[in-house]
Amino acid sequence: MAKGQVMTSVSGYPRIGYDREWKKALEQYWAGKLTLSELEAEMERIELLRLAKLKEEGIDFIPVNDFSWYDHVLDMTAMFGLIPERFGYEGGPITADLMFALARGTETAVACEMTKWFNTNYHYIVPEWEGKPPVLTENRPLASYRRAKEKLGIEGKPVLVGPYTYVRFIKGIPQGERRQVLDQFADVYGRILHELEAEGVSCVQLDEPAFVKPMTADDWQAAQAVYERLRLAAPGLTIWVQTYFDSVSGLDSFLQLPVDVYGLDFVHGEERNEAALRQTGIPSGKRVAFGIIDGRNIWRADLLAAATWLESIEPIVPRSHWIVQPSCSLLHVPLTAEREEALPGYVRGALAFADEKVAETVRLAAHLSEPTAESAALLEASAADVLAWREEPARKRPHVVEAVERLIRDAEADGGRRAPYEQRRAAQRRRWPELPLLPTTTIGSLPQTAEIRKARLRFRKGEWSAGAYESFLRQEIERWVRIQEEIGIDVLVHGEFERTDMVEYFGEKLDGFVFTKFGWVQSYGSRCVKPPILYGDVAFREAMTVAETAYAQSLTKRPVKGMLTGPVTILNWSFVRDDVPREQCAYQLAYALRQEIQELEQAGIGMIQVDEPAVKEGMPLKAEDAARYREWAVLAFLLATNGAVPETQIHTHMCYCDFSDMVETIRRMDADVISLETARSGGDMVDTLRKERYELGIGLGVYDIHSPRVPSVGEIERFIETALTVLPAESFWINPDCGLKTRNEPETVAALKHMVEATVSVRQAR
Ligand code: GLN
Ligand code: ZN
Repeated sequence: MAKGQVMTSVSGYPRIGYDREWKKALEQYWAGKLTLSELEAEMERIELLRLAKLKEEGIDFIPVNDFSWYDHVLDMTAMFGLIPERFGYEGGPITADLMFALARGTETAVACEMTKWFNTNYHYIVPEWEGKPPVLTENRPLASYRRAKEKLGIEGKPVLVGPYTYVRFIKGIPQGERRQVLDQFADVYGRILHELEAEGVSCVQLDEPAFVKPMTADDWQAAQAVYERLRLAAPGLTIWVQTYFDSVSGLDSFLQLPVDVYGLDFVHGEERNEAALRQTGIPSGKRVAFGIIDGRNIWRADLLAAATWLESIEPIVPRSHWIVQPSCSLLHVPLTAEREEALPGYVRGALAFADEKVAETVRLAAHLSEPTAESAALLEASAADVLAWREEPARKRPHVVEAVERLIRDAEADGGRRAPYEQRRAAQRRRWPELPLLPTTTIGSLPQTAEIRKARLRFRKGEWSAGAYESFLRQEIERWVRIQEEIGIDVLVHGEFERTDMVEYFGEKLDGFVFTKFGWVQSYGSRCVKPPILYGDVAFREAMTVAETAYAQSLTKRPVKGMLTGPVTILNWSFVRDDVPREQCAYQLAYALRQEIQELEQAGIGMIQVDEPAVKEGMPLKAEDAARYREWAVLAFLLATNGAVPETQIHTHMCYCDFSDMVETIRRMDADVISLETARSGGDMVDTLRKERYELGIGLGVYDIHSPRVPSVGEIERFIETALTVLPAESFWINPDCGLKTRNEPETVAALKHMVEATVSVRQAR
């Protein structure tokens, strides 16, 4: 029996192609190996292929204009002609080269900033405001719509970043002027929508994820005003406002926007969205796009549970007004799990990447529209599969679960800390009496030359024996121990030459992870990452870093710092199982690292760094969730490190973020020494530390490692002197901003020499 047609939609789809041909085309063009027209042809081929795929799968609302040659936010910026002065743009059409220039910089103009898109690992190019009003250089959504229609007969749904969100992310709008700028943009958006309507487009999707961020009454008023203008500009067009990544901050205001479809995330922040929806109800005649298939994770959905939940909403939104879809753009997951034949069957069967999610969406809607015995059986099978996966013995490691429970109980009893800092500090001073004031060190990785990468590859491919590879690594470690000694660095590192990636390295050595062959996700521009998959209980197998670290230590009298990646960072840079709370996974990782620390201690390593660069980026979008996250992130770090004896000096390192609201969290992590990046972290760390005392050991990055420029002795000296106006010299460390693996050897040696020279001169002046 038909119950009313339930429509399907996808709000965005990966652009990189099954073989990352998108990335390859871009890089070939940049390298001068493709002409512009060849690039254009290849881009169109990829764009149409994905549209054809969505059509073939039976998606009703197929997104167009979500495809991009680089970044969809940059596309909007180009469309509005918002080109910063330094790029010398004088009006007219925006060329591909100009767009690439904004993203990548030129000889004469620095690139626009790049920032993470909400709490994802996707980076967008930040629009800059220089006071020039926006124009419409080209109606890109219209052009995308036409391409899909002419080439494939698809009635696409143009997708744009919505006006409120776009303007909220423009950098440099003077205080108090944002509302006025928003007005200017409302005009241009109005024109775009008007032209779409005139073309016969029936539906346009405006992405407004900024609505899940904190919204004041004024913010909602501004949003309301914009949407009223859009409504007037295109009265007959179906306007669809899409939110994702969390619940809307103020659903009642959201539902007052004069639009036709309200897109909500019912995977992330679902409880809040659901409660608000039940309370507010939906204006009559309006449709809701239910983001019910997780667009952020890679696991198959329980479609029976999804259907049951939707049916419980029926009194509030009639079925004929339902649209079902993944919770956000599928940009954030890999394309297909079908090709992952090398994975164990039980993992592979549990995976749903973009294509599988599209199929799930269609399957769910088909059943909701017109249930048949067959559709019901499919839903039941999906529920059974999810259950079986949950119970899968290969995921279970009861000894880990028990040990972690015990650890947490103990931590609750004593706060999870080691001996008080003062005691540790005294013990550590006795252990390294020769360590000077303002000790110098580095963050861990040393230049990864082509030779090192080649060696690793040869070993992986089996061309080199373990013995040959190991002796190569040893040579490299020894060479660099000598270099560090010669430069005069006080605390050495082994250099991380054996690691391609700081998360992958540990994932491969722990139980509970698998790695895909083709599971790429766009990170920024043409750069893609292949996150490890944490699928089960995590267990320590055997020592992971002891051989290299102990070897380095055997070569020198100076302390060598062991180098581990922290639990929260491993978690945040992986795809994580969703059958247990995230914090449980973090605690299990912590437990494994705790065992590694013990191994290092037994091998005589006295300083151990546990890197946590990704703590801040895992921060939930809502304050109430963020507070809980901080709690468990701190606890995970403590569980990893609090087994160390007082004489062991625990270091940590953080980077890529604004630390101004992190000092308390950092303090609670209780590391003996933290090194922080300062050059690119936004906000001024020295300023922050002026306001907030910090008592534990701390090193602020004294020079920026992201640039090949070698800093002068003078500028490093000045930076150290400034830092010492807010931090006591007794607890201050000298280090670069971050790991050195992307730098070459000559510039690294030169910069580190300057760092040491500057330190010596500051020491002498004291
Ligand atoms: N120890 C790591 C390195 O030096 C830290 C990297 C990071 O902070 N992202 O490479
Ligand atoms: Zn770093």
